[in-house]
Order: sequence, then C-alpha cells, then structure tokens
Amino acid sequence: MISAVAASRQILTRLHEVMASRSHAQAKLNTVAEVVGESLHSEVCSIYLLREGALELFATRGLAQEAVHVTRLAVGEGLVGTIAAHIDTLNLAEATAHPDFSYRPETGEEKFHSFAGVPIVRRERAVGVLCVQHAEPRRYEEVEIEALQTVAMVLSELIANADLVDEDEGLLNAALTGPSQIKGQPLVKGLASGVAVFHQPRVTIEHTVAEDVEAERARVYLAFDKMREQIERMASQAEFGVGGEHEEVLATYKMFAYDEGWSRRINDAISSGLTAEAAIERVQQRTRMRMRQIDDPLLADRMHDLEDLSNRLLRTVSGQLGTAAAKGLRQDAILIARNLGPAELLEYDKRRLKGVVLEEGSLTAHVVIVARAMGIPVLGRLHGLRAAVREGDVLLVDGNQGALTVRPAPAMVEAFEARFAKSRERQASYAGLREVEPRTADGTRIALMINAGLREDLPNLALTGADGIGLFRTEFQFLVSATLPSRERQTRLYRDVLEAAGDKPVVFRTVDIGGDKVLPYLRHDETVAEENPAMGWRALRVGLEREGLMKVQARALLEASAGRTLSVMFPMVSEPWEFDAARALFDSQLAWLKSQKKLLPAEVRFGTMLEVPALAEMLDVLLPRLQFLSIGTNDLTQFLFAADRAHPKLAERYDWLSPAILRFLKRVIDQCNAHGVDVTVCGEMGGRPVEALALAALGLRRLSITPAAVGPVKAAIRQLNLPELEQVMAGWLANPPADLRAELLAWAEARGFVFD
Ligand code: PEP
Ligand code: MG
Repeated sequence: MISAVAASRQILTRLHEVMASRSHAQAKLNTVAEVVGESLHSEVCSIYLLREGALELFATRGLAQEAVHVTRLAVGEGLVGTIAAHIDTLNLAEATAHPDFSYRPETGEEKFHSFAGVPIVRRERAVGVLCVQHAEPRRYEEVEIEALQTVAMVLSELIANADLVDEDEGLLNAALTGPSQIKGQPLVKGLASGVAVFHQPRVTIEHTVAEDVEAERARVYLAFDKMREQIERMASQAEFGVGGEHEEVLATYKMFAYDEGWSRRINDAISSGLTAEAAIERVQQRTRMRMRQIDDPLLADRMHDLEDLSNRLLRTVSGQLGTAAAKGLRQDAILIARNLGPAELLEYDKRRLKGVVLEEGSLTAHVVIVARAMGIPVLGRLHGLRAAVREGDVLLVDGNQGALTVRPAPAMVEAFEARFAKSRERQASYAGLREVEPRTADGTRIALMINAGLREDLPNLALTGADGIGLFRTEFQFLVSATLPSRERQTRLYRDVLEAAGDKPVVFRTVDIGGDKVLPYLRHDETVAEENPAMGWRALRVGLEREGLMKVQARALLEASAGRTLSVMFPMVSEPWEFDAARALFDSQLAWLKSQKKLLPAEVRFGTMLEVPALAEMLDVLLPRLQFLSIGTNDLTQFLFAADRAHPKLAERYDWLSPAILRFLKRVIDQCNAHGVDVTVCGEMGGRPVEALALAALGLRRLSITPAAVGPVKAAIRQLNLPELEQVMAGWLANPPADLRAELLAWAEARGFVFD
C-alpha cells in the first residue's frame, strides 16, 4: 500500500508542472483530471466549478466529454451539490444508494458504482467539487481521500489565479448561511450592529505547491521556533498574558507547540510537495475531519486550542502577524475573539468598533471594564463562536438579553433597529437627567461618581453630570504605554484630570498592577509564573517593594495637585500596616517637596480600597486613620467566594445579590458610617441599577461607577423609596430568601421600576 505522503507527492510533482505551464486554464483543469484519475487508478475524475449559482462540469476524464459545460447541478442537488452545500467529503461504495444521488444520462455515469468527492474551498467558501468514480463498488482508502483533498487545495489556487469563479459567489457551509442566534452572557449592556472582524484574522493561502521542499521545511521550523518563543513569553507573564489568554489555555498551547506528532504531520505534508502554509492547513483540515466523528466535549475544547495554535503558526509562517487592529477597521465592526487583553482592545479605532463578542470573558475582567468605560457592548461566553461566524458576516449584538444574531434576515434587522432607536431614546432621556440630582424619592442624596483611567474618559464627567471621579485607575496609563510612563508624563495626566474635574473631587488610586493587568516591561525579579496572580504579587504589594515606582507616582500626584486637594487611595491593602507604610511614603515625599519650597497640595486625603476580606476585621483599628474607604467589590467578591473574577466558568456562578455579600457589605458600611468615614462602592456591582438599589438599602450613600451607568442608576435612585426598601432589605438579610435577586426584582417591578 502506497503511503499518503508518497501518493500526494506523486500527484503534486505532476501538478507542479501543470501549474507552472503556460497553458490555458481549461487545459490545466483537463490535465489535473487526467493526473488524478491515473494516479488513483480511477476510471473517472471530474471537476465541477461554481458558475452562476450552479455547479458546472468543467473537466472530466472518463465521463462523456459532451457533458462538459453542459451538465449543471444546483447547489444541494445530487452528490456533487451536496458536497458543495455542506463543504464536506463523501466516500461511497455504492453511489446510487445515497439519498441525494441524482443520475445525469448525458454523462454516461451509470456504469460507475463507487464515488468519492471533496469540496474545493476558497476563503472558507465552496467554489467547486473534485470527484472520482469507479466501476467496481469499493470505498476509497483514506490515503486516496487525502490525496483528493490535497489536489482540491491546489485547484483552489489554480481557479483563483485563472479567475474561473467569482469568489464572492462561493458557497458558505449550508449550516452557516441562514440567520442564527447564539446565546451568551451580557458583559457590557447595550446594542450594536456591524460586520464581524476577527481579532486574529485568518490567513488565505496563496501558494500550495512547493518550489523547493527543503526551503519550505526550513520556513516551518523557523515558524515553530518563533511560535514556541511567543508562547513561552505569554506563559511567563503569569496567568493572563497581555493577550488575555488563560493559563489553562496556555498550558495546552505549550503541549501542542512541542507535540512531535503535530510537527511530524506538517513535515510529512511538506514532504508530499506542499508549501509550509498549505501543509499546516492540510493537517488542520484532517484533524477537523477526524474530530467531527468524535463526540467528546473535552476533546473538542482541546481541538479548539489546536485550531488556535494552527492559525498562529500559519500567521507566523506567512508573516501576517498583525491583529485586525493593525489593519484598521473599514466599517462599523463587531470584534470577535476568544479573549482579549485590555491593551489589545484599546488599539482599535473607537469610532468604528461598535461591539465585542468573546468566546470567554467575565463581568469583571479588565478588558470588560475598559469596554464598559468606552461604552462598547460586550457579550461573552459564546461557545463555538468562531466556528459559527465568518469574517464579514453581519452581526447584531444584544448586550441586554445576551444574544448574538448572525447573518440576520431583513425583518430581524428591522426589529433590532427599532429597539436600537428606543434604547437611544432612553439614553437621550438619561442625558436629560444630567443636571438632575441623584436623590431618592424620599429626599436622600446619593453621590454618583464615575470610574476613569484614561485621558479619553475625562469628557464623561461633564457628559454624565457625575459628582466627581470616585476611582481613577492610574495603572491604565501604565497598561497602554509601551514603556514605564515617566514622572513628567504621569504628572501631566494627573494635572489634566484635576483640570477637567474642576471643583469636583477626584480619587486617584495608586497603581494596581499584577493580576490580569500585566505590564510586559515591568516584571518582578522572580519571573516565576504565579499560580494565583490575583492573590499574588500585585497592587500595593508591588508598590511597597518597588519603592522607586511608588515614590515617582507619589511625587507626580503631589506635584500635579499643587494648590488643590489630592485624594489618594491604596489598592489591595490587606493589613493596616500596609496603609501606614504607603502613607509614610507619601508623607516623606511631601516633606521633601516642602523642603524644596514647592507649592504643595492644599490638602491631602488618604483612603484605602477594601478588597481583601481580612481588612474588614481590622476596621476599628484602621478607620480612625482614614479619610475615606472604597469597597472594590470586583476583587472583594472573588475573595469572599473564592472564585476567580476572570474565570469564564465561574462568571455566572455567584451573585452580587447573595445574602453573604450583602451582609458583609452592610457590616463594613455600618462601621464606616459609625466612624464618620466616607464609604463608596467602586466595583462594577454599583453600576447595575438593581444592585445600586440594594447598596443604598444597606446604608451606602456613595457610588463610583462606569460612566454609562450614571443615567440608569440615577433614574432608579430617583424612583426609590429608601426607607421602604431598607426595611424590606433588613428582613431579607435576617431571613435570607432562596433567591434574593428575584425578590428584589419582584419588589422593584411591583413599584414600576423598569430596568434595561
Ligand atoms: C475592584 O476590585 O472592585 C476594583 C474597583 O478594582 P479593580 O477592578 O481595578 O481591581
Ligand atoms: Mg480591585
């Protein structure tokens, strides 16, 4: 039995001559049919190409020549039409037994029993079919099918070069043509429409037959080396790479990147005469085909990883490394990715980027926080997303209901646009609330501030009419810079922030790096990959160790606040001494500035985030030293529930409206109120209207939220009868209902609240 490599090699050597010859495209197709028929000892080999919506017989060996350019099969008609419609292979010992068999007398094919056919694919669309037939009934061997698939790749190049088919007319997989809807988790609310753009674009293979096999082998070796280096780098950046890849995924990437079986198969495909790109793709096609026959979700996930890696290798080998951001968005776009890092998202043109859809993602991952700040709807947790959507598909993102509509029918677009218009109206009505105070129906004033982190966020203060900036995440400047921002750059940003805020207060949080906020240019000395970076070397822990970093920031903040009030807050304080140490560092910088006769801030207020549960037990000690405290519910809840905030599987598991969280928050809020220390919630929780009502009912009077939430939260607050909900909430906390969220929603709906 001839090996797959040898079979393909034999054919490819001959096809190489055909491709290089100067003959006309029709003559080339005729020769291909001859070569394939002969090599596979098949009486018939035919090539059908898509022309004007039907599959036309373009060349044949063995069928009646009069049928060429006469026999035409509709898409889905006969075996050939079925192969094209489903972009799938058929291998039949007895063709007539297949339900889709359709007999064409002009071809004279009645004497042939066995049949095998493969689709000819260009840019993921079927543009033709290559098939063989044999008089004797037998199934074709796997090596023969593989040889056919290899030839189909070469044909795809040939017909593209000769302009034989209109690529845009190509057929999408029947399962991927009509409209479909995929459910996901709403991560950032809002509606958006646009065309699908893959963050990691797919590579189109231009050359399939190798000129020089050894040169192709060298190219693929080099690409493997580069890819392995890339993965090592990502893995050493701890759990989340800058690219947002999850540690588990990286581990699988690593396993495949060093998998000898995979590289050997690619090598074999090159030996058979394919270019490096075509070889990688061939191996991937084969894996895909095998996987379709195995129904194991775990294995399917792994294969997904291999598919990713295969695309990465293809991009590396073809030098097409850039993400879609580098190419630029040409129209309103919905970005499709498995996962993203915050810095990657920021590379996109904001005017064109209308929505983001992720296979993974979670509510408090920083990429989602950044998208929320940018007002871009995000859907997450859409399983199988990248297989169901094609580049360029029209998409409707419903970030309220958590649904993605792919290739919508016109009526769907119309209905969506109507909802979109309504939601814009609602947004406009929120804008109308800009000058209105956030006061409950019974007259309690709630301070509504915004979270910010970049210069671009500043206009939101005026747009929302918020009371100030309750959380300025200074690390975002570090995150979007290629190098460590200098003191001057930091000072400039902080000064601009204070300028923009005018009389309104701003709370600057010192850098919170680590966790999922990785700075490629700043690694801590022990480059050990952290098992648990969210609980690892991050935030103030880094700041206190890297005194230089924190001193520079302290100087920048103090100088930027000359003559004004500076409110500074420390992240991830776990014990009171950490706050003391951080404050001492600021005090010494202040003393130095004073000694230099520099203009000092009129006042410096110190506060801390409460994100680590242990700190809640020390509030009696800590509160007398603080001017304010801000509860970071994103981190706090991940620690309370021991549930990684960025873990896709845990994204929906625990509810912010669980009695455990609410009881915990109530204790903290009560203590702060008793000590007369301002207490704010600045996690994502506070930006959700239902949660905001609950927080008010716990005694909280200050929220710092994402700008887009100011309108909806203000509207909810203004409708709230606070004493009534306080009383109900006290009952729920004393005797927790099974589903507190459902109870609160029912309570609110009965009182006419409407939430998006
Ligand atoms: C938090 O943890 O709730 C918080 C506001 O900080 P960050 O999301 O930046 O970690
Ligand atoms: Mg935090």
